[in-house]
Amino acid sequence: MPGLESLAFTNRFTRGLPADTEELNTRRQVRGACFSRVKPTPVARPELVAHAREVAELLDLEVTPENENDFAEVFGGNRLLPNMDPFAMCYGGHQFGNWAGQLGDGRAINLGEVVNSRGQHLTLQLKGAGPTPYSRTADGLAVLRSSIREFICSEAMHHLGVPTTRALSLVVTGERVMRDMFYDGNPAYEPGAVVCRVAPSFTRFGNFQIFAARQEMDQLRQLTDFTLRNDFPHLGEPSRETYAAMFDEVCRTTAAMVAHWMRVGFVHGVMNTDNMSILGLTIDYGPYGWLENYDPDWTPNTTDSQGRRYRFGAQPQIALWNLLQLGNALFPLVGDANPLQRGLDSYASCFQEEQRRMIANKLGLTRRDTEQDEPLVPELWALLAAEETDMTLFFRGLADARCETGSPEDPMSLLAPIENAFYQPEKVSSEHRAQLAGWLRRYQLRVREDGTPDALRGMRMNLVNPLYVPRNYLAQLAIDKAEAGDYSQVRELLAVLRQPYTCQAGKEEFAAKRPDWARQRAGCSMLSCSS
Ligand code: AMP
Ligand code: MG
Repeated sequence: MPGLESLAFTNRFTRGLPADTEELNTRRQVRGACFSRVKPTPVARPELVAHAREVAELLDLEVTPENENDFAEVFGGNRLLPNMDPFAMCYGGHQFGNWAGQLGDGRAINLGEVVNSRGQHLTLQLKGAGPTPYSRTADGLAVLRSSIREFICSEAMHHLGVPTTRALSLVVTGERVMRDMFYDGNPAYEPGAVVCRVAPSFTRFGNFQIFAARQEMDQLRQLTDFTLRNDFPHLGEPSRETYAAMFDEVCRTTAAMVAHWMRVGFVHGVMNTDNMSILGLTIDYGPYGWLENYDPDWTPNTTDSQGRRYRFGAQPQIALWNLLQLGNALFPLVGDANPLQRGLDSYASCFQEEQRRMIANKLGLTRRDTEQDEPLVPELWALLAAEETDMTLFFRGLADARCETGSPEDPMSLLAPIENAFYQPEKVSSEHRAQLAGWLRRYQLRVREDGTPDALRGMRMNLVNPLYVPRNYLAQLAIDKAEAGDYSQVRELLAVLRQPYTCQAGKEEFAAKRPDWARQRAGCSMLSCSS
């Protein structure tokens, strides 16, 4: 396997789009440009904590004991390879529903775009590599805890089958970073880290929005033409029609992405328009969380605890709202609201279709009969929300439910496969148990009608209902150890999450529901944006 020096940089973004003419790395409003050239800030002692070998392979790289130090130097931001052309992107965004003006890559620095041996274009981006013109009042750095969370979750999402940006590496910098984790006047030093993210494109809705907001129409057109040609080449040459077709495709891929989030119980936490990828990839893992007990109103983000704008159950609506903002930004190019409205409509129909398929798969039903599934489904969600029930364990348990034979069973044996999903089994009322048993009986009948044998149904369900997800408390346990200098749990968590649907002997602790101590602990149930 060739080494780092063989990375073939193509740098289409910086070669093809207008650059900031000011070369000094000072914080400012950058006008008329898609990006600013800026170099990573060197760090004291970069050390490779973990890497994703699948992402390395994607780049035709292999990390070996011999090249590990070089790897840490390059992906910690200390050494530039020939033909790298580092830059930070200019973008704006709506934060929590309000237009926030210029945001930009405040702590992300793209090292450049490469083309791999299979002809795929991939951009390498360091997160936490120092200030850029877009850093506003912040330091451009990232701490270890948030970098572990980003690294682990990006890869977990990929292995779960959810569209996402990838993470190549996690490097500690050997430097300390000051953070006020809860914005409560108690800042403390934490270890600094850099994650190298990888994606075919890091362009966000906000990249288009900033030009529309500033009435920089030439730049808006240049960026859109570039995006069409490079990220949507199958749509044809830029025209009003292909701009609209691109928007339509973004609506569809975003719908598919959000349906996957709902399938696995992922809550993004900060669905601002600057955190929405033009390729429908999950991007920017900050105060995200995983549903443990099923609760559609839950948000992990303490900054959002009042309005709960980005709660689990609101994600489909919020994505649509965000797409509307992108549609507004593209309107000057399309010149007609109708095709954009059709795109938004296709989001709605696409999401509905994906969601129907998703829930049928989660329930192991092959013959889709919406008339019959619909009453089964809302009642299930209501039952899961009524008593603390672990979403992940419930669906794995349901895969073991016996439906094939026999007359309706007694409630106790009906509930046995899902008993483990209750957080406080002793507190679950007999009334709730009876209701759930009633639901399970109807589910049995529906499955029998569907005609899939139990073994086959269970196998199929276990391919869409994960057993291992990066539960908030699991990430926090790995963080606790890592902050004390022991990275073994980060690596082990990554290893388990590589096969989230396969029961792994000896890894039971990674499938366990949230322990009581994690209920209120910072990082486990509540996260701030401080990272
Ligand atoms: P986020 O909420 O993480 O998507 O960040 C919103 C904006 O703040 C983006 O423009 C980020 O680049 C920027 N930002 C977040 N944290 C930092 C930081 N520590 N230093 C500089 N910019 C940051
Ligand atoms: Mg962001």
